[in-house]
Amino acid sequence: MATTTTVRKGGSWLLEETSVDDVFTPEKLTEEHRLIAQTTEEFVAHEVLPMLERLEAKDWGAARSLLRRCAELGLLGVNVPEEYGGVALDKVSSLIVSERIAPAASFAASFGAQANLCILPIALFGTPAQKQQYLPRLVSGELVGAYALSESGSGSDALAARTRATRGPDGDWRLTGEKMWITNGGFADVIIVFAKVDGEHFTAFIVEKSFPGVSAGKEEHKMGLHGSSTTPILLQEARVPAGNVLGEIGKGHKVALNTLNFGRFKLGGMSVGGCRTAIGDAVRYAAERRQFGQPIATFGAIKHKLGEMVARTYAMESVAYRTAGLIEAHVAASDGENGGAAQALEEYAIEASIIKVGGTEALNYVLDENVQIHGGNGFVKDYSAERYYRDARVNRIFEGTNEINRLLIPGMLVRRGLKGELPLVAAARALQDELLSIGASASAVRVDDRGPLEEEARIVAAFKKVALIVLGTAMQTYGQKLTDEQEVLGYTADILIDTFAAESAVLRARAAAGHDHAELHQAAATAFVHDAALRIEQAARSALAAMAEGDTLRTLLAALRRVLKPAPVNTVALRRRLADAVVAHGRYILG
Ligand SMILES: Cc1cc2nc3c(=O)[nH]c(=O)nc-3n(C[C@H](O)[C@H](O)[C@H](O)COP(=O)(O)OP(=O)(O)OC[C@H]3O[C@@H](n4cnc5c(N)ncnc54)[C@H](O)[C@@H]3O)c2cc1C
Repeated sequence: MATTTTVRKGGSWLLEETSVDDVFTPEKLTEEHRLIAQTTEEFVAHEVLPMLERLEAKDWGAARSLLRRCAELGLLGVNVPEEYGGVALDKVSSLIVSERIAPAASFAASFGAQANLCILPIALFGTPAQKQQYLPRLVSGELVGAYALSESGSGSDALAARTRATRGPDGDWRLTGEKMWITNGGFADVIIVFAKVDGEHFTAFIVEKSFPGVSAGKEEHKMGLHGSSTTPILLQEARVPAGNVLGEIGKGHKVALNTLNFGRFKLGGMSVGGCRTAIGDAVRYAAERRQFGQPIATFGAIKHKLGEMVARTYAMESVAYRTAGLIEAHVAASDGENGGAAQALEEYAIEASIIKVGGTEALNYVLDENVQIHGGNGFVKDYSAERYYRDARVNRIFEGTNEINRLLIPGMLVRRGLKGELPLVAAARALQDELLSIGASASAVRVDDRGPLEEEARIVAAFKKVALIVLGTAMQTYGQKLTDEQEVLGYTADILIDTFAAESAVLRARAAAGHDHAELHQAAATAFVHDAALRIEQAARSALAAMAEGDTLRTLLAALRRVLKPAPVNTVALRRRLADAVVAHGRYILG
C-alpha cells in the first residue's frame, strides 16, 4: 500500500519545516484501507455490540468467539508476516482497525491486549521457534493473549517489578510473584510476563496459563470496561521452559518499552475513533431533542460544544495519521530485522506519547460534552453516552499514565538533543540570538491579505519558537536536574503536544484544498490553531515564570510576545460552521 512519506527523525518536526506533501492524512487512504475500515466497522456494529450484555456479564466464551471472528476477518494478524498466519499490512491499517473497533471499548481492550500486547512483542522479539510455536495460534484466535508488566507496588515504575525468575536444576525457569490489573487475565492462554532474573535482570518470558504454578486471581470490579477481563496473575514457582525467554535476559525493558510505544500509538488511534463515534451520537441526539420549541442543535451553547468536539478530533486524527505515515516510511526504508518495525517504534516514541496524551484527553473532552448534550439521558444506561464516558477514563491511566507520558515527551527530546541526534541545542541558541537582535519579530501578514491557512502556518512556526524558548531556558536553568522539574516539563509537554497537533491539522487542511469539505478542514484547523495559541501562551508564561525572575523574566516574556502574536479570529463562527455541518450530515464527516 502506498502510504509512505519521507523518512524523518522522530521529533525533528520541531526543528524542520514539513511540506504539505510530506504528511500522511486520512484523505490519502487507499481502497484497501477503506475496505479494512468498513470490515471492522461492520464487525463491531453487527457482531460485537449485540454481544455487549454477554461480555459485561463476564461471558468470556463470547469474548473468545469474537476474537476468533476477528482472526477470520484478518484483524488479529494485521502486523504479522504471512508465514506466521498474518496478513502483513502497513501501520496505517493497524491504526484503522484500532480506530474503528473503538465503539466497543471493552472488546477493544481485549483485542488490544491480544494484538498489540501479546502478538506484537512475540512478532518483534521472538526467535523463529517461538514465532512458529505461538503466532499462528494467537493470530487465528485459538489462543488468547495477555501482557503482565504491572504489579501492585510497581505500575508507573514498572522496572521496579518484584516478580523473580530463577533457573532450576533442570534449566527451566521458576517465576514467583503477582501481576496486577492484567487485561484478558481471566481467560488468557499465553501471557508475556516480566520478571527479574535472580532479582536483578529485568526479562520478558512467554508464559502459558497451563504451566504449573500459573493462575488468575478474581476479576476486578471496575469503573468501566465491564466487558473486559482484568485480574491478577499469580505465579507460584511457575515452571517456564528454558526456551521461553523473550528477547535477551536483562533486556526486558526493550520488549516492554517498544510494546508500550506501539500500544500508545494504537490507543491514540482508538481514542480518535471514540471521538468520531461520540460526535455522531451527539449530533443525532441534538438534532432530534427539542427544548423551548426547537432542536437543541440550534442553540449556540450546543454548537460551541459540537464545533469544539470536531476541531479537537480533527487535530488528533491528523496527528494519528501523520504518525502512522512516519512509522510506515521508516519501516519501508528499513532492511532491519523484522522489517525494522522495532526501530521505527523506538524512533517515534515522542510522537506515540503525544498521540496517547492528546488523543485520550480529546476523547475525555468529547465524551464529557456528549454526556452534557444528552442531558439527563446522558446519565442513564439507556444511552451509550454513559458507557462511553465510564469506559474511556482508564485511557489516561494505562499504557503509561498521561503524567508519565508528559514527562517523556520533552525528556526524550532533550535526550536526543544532548546525544546529538537532533540539533536542538544549536536551534535554541540560534533562536536566542535572533530574538536578541533588534527588531526581530514574527512576520505579520495583514489578515485580509493572507491566503488560506497562511497565517495559521505562520502561527505554527511561532509555536515551535515558543517551544524552543521554553526548552532552551529549561536546559540552561536546570541542566542535568531538569528531570526533577516536573511542572516545567508538564508545561513544555503541553506546548509540544499542541504544536505537533496544530501543525498536523494545518498541513492536512492545506492538503485538502480543492477536495470535499475543504472549507470545513480549514475551519477545524483554524479554530484549533487559534485556541492552541492561547493555551501555549499561558503554558509558556507559567513555565518561564517558574524559571526566571526580574529583568531576565521580563526579557523572556517580551520575546514571547514578539514571537506569538496571532491576529484575532472569530472562532465562534468557525465552530458554528463545523457544528452545522456535522448536524446536517448526522455524523463526523472529516476523515
Ligand atoms: C483496566 C486496566 C487494565 C490494565 N491492563 C494492564 C495490562 O494488561 N497489563 C499490565 O501490565 N498493566 C495493566 N494495567 C495497569 C496499568 O498499566 C497501571 O495501572 C498504570 O501503569 C499505572 O500504574 P499504577 O496504577 O500503579 O499507578 P501509580 O504508578 O501508583 O501512579 C499513581 C499516580 O501517580 C502518578 N505518578 C507515578 N509516578 C510518577 C512520577 N514519577 N512522576 C509523576 N507522577 C507520577 C501517576 O501518573 C498517577 O497519577 C491496567 C490497569 C487498568 C486499570
